[in-house]
Order: sequence, then structure tokens, then C-alpha cells
Amino acid sequence: DLICTGGSIQFKNVSFSYDNNRPILNNLNFEIKAGSRVAFVGMSGSGKSTIAKLLLRFYERKSGEILIDGQDISFSTLKSLRKSIGFVPQDVTLFNESILYNIKYGDIDASMDNIIDSSKASHLHDSIEKMPKKYDTVVGERGLMLSGGEKQRLAIARAILKGSKILILDEPTSSLDSQTERFILESLKLKNKITTIIIAHRLTTITDVDCIFVMKDGSIAERGTHEEL
Ligand code: ATP
Ligand code: MG
Repeated sequence: DLICTGGSIQFKNVSFSYDNNRPILNNLNFEIKAGSRVAFVGMSGSGKSTIAKLLLRFYERKSGEILIDGQDISFSTLKSLRKSIGFVPQDVTLFNESILYNIKYGDIDASMDNIIDSSKASHLHDSIEKMPKKYDTVVGERGLMLSGGEKQRLAIARAILKGSKILILDEPTSSLDSQTERFILESLKLKNKITTIIIAHRLTTITDVDCIFVMKDGSIAERGTHEEL
């Protein structure tokens, strides 16, 4: 089992290709300190989401090492690995069930207090309270009854509820206005000691992070703080 108590991440010479032909990640090296907040930015297709997919082992890296808290994730169980990472994907999948069900997402023991805390932190709670059936609102086929931003905030609430040490937000900005995004990032900051990875196209909204990695064609072209870049 992976023992994730800090949430540090390290990629050492990681290369990857989906088809064993076209290289997607080329010899990536980076380190993310436990509890810090970083962003990956870069053009569409530069490999940002692929990094998240390798961390979660949706795909296996072809060479190199990926470490969480010093442990090579290839040797851990998928269950313990995925428990340690809260992931908000670009395309959120929801079940045609209640909001409550979708936030809990299998965590049947979650208390209502924790659920409300999580949805407050993701700035979803107020929207839910305005709905006639509140947390019992059924979201429709693939979440059709919710706006893009609500779906994304629901996925963030789900990830926060999971209580993982690592949180990956893939394009949280795509359906959120910049103010809501800032609120969410602020409240995540208060839940300190969570290593947070934000994936985005542009640098603009990403100001409050410890380090920004600029991806280009599967490599890190630049790295530094917002001021440095
Ligand atoms: P975006 O900003 O558009 O989300 P990204 O930086 O997240 O882009 P990735 O999703 O990591 O990019 O994709 C990197 C490259 O890998 C792209 O050229 C993409 O076409 C390719 N790719 C992604 N997923 C697959 C897959 N499942 N099979 C084959 N190729 C893939
Ligand atoms: Mg992507």
C-alpha cells in the first residue's frame, strides 16, 4: 500500500507514449513539495492532463519513476494510490442521482456535516440551497440539470470530501468564472497541507501558487513563480 502522509510528488526522467510511437512526455523531471500549490500551464496537447493520468495510473509510465512521499507508485495498489489523490477531471462524470449521492460517490459513511463543509469550500452549497429539493435534487443524465460550473464545483466538493493529501484540478477554470475560481482556491488554501496541482491553459488566473510549470511538447519549457515568468 502507498502511505501518503505528506503528499510530495516527484517525477524522475518520466517518459510516456500512448501508442509506443509518438512520444507525449519526454524525460520529465520535477518535484512538488508536500502541501505546496503548483500549476501546469501550456497549450492544448502539451501533455498536462497526461501527467495527471500517470499519477493516478490510468496509464503506466514507460520509463522513469513517479514517487509519492518517496514511494514508487508502480509498486502500490491502485486502491491506496487513488485514495491519496482527489482528482477533478476536465470532463466531470455524474450519475443521474441526487446531488448528495454524487458528492458522496461511494463514500457511504460520509457525515452530512462533512458533505456540507466540502460543498461550502467548493462554493456549491449556496447554489444547492436555492434548489427546491436541495441536496436531494436529481442531476439528470450526465448532470444535464446542472450548469457546467455547478458540475465542476460538485466534482471539487467530491474531491475535498475524500480528504486526500493531493488534489488535482484539471482545468478548473474552463466553466468557472474567475471570481468563483479565486474563492475556491482561497478556501482550499485554508484547508492547508493539501498538495494542490492546478492545470490550466493560461497563466492569467494562476497567481497564487508556489511554482508554475510551463509545458511545451511534453517537456517543461520553463518553471518559476508568476513574477519570474
Ligand atoms: P488540453 O489543454 O487540451 O487539455 P493537455 O495538455 O491536457 O491538453 P493531454 O491530454 O495530456 O494534453 O494530451 C497530450 C497529447 O496526447 C495530445 O496530443 C493528445 O492528442 C494525446 N492523447 C491524449 N490522450 C490520448 C489517448 N488516450 N490516446 C492517444 N493519444 C492521446
Ligand atoms: Mg488536458
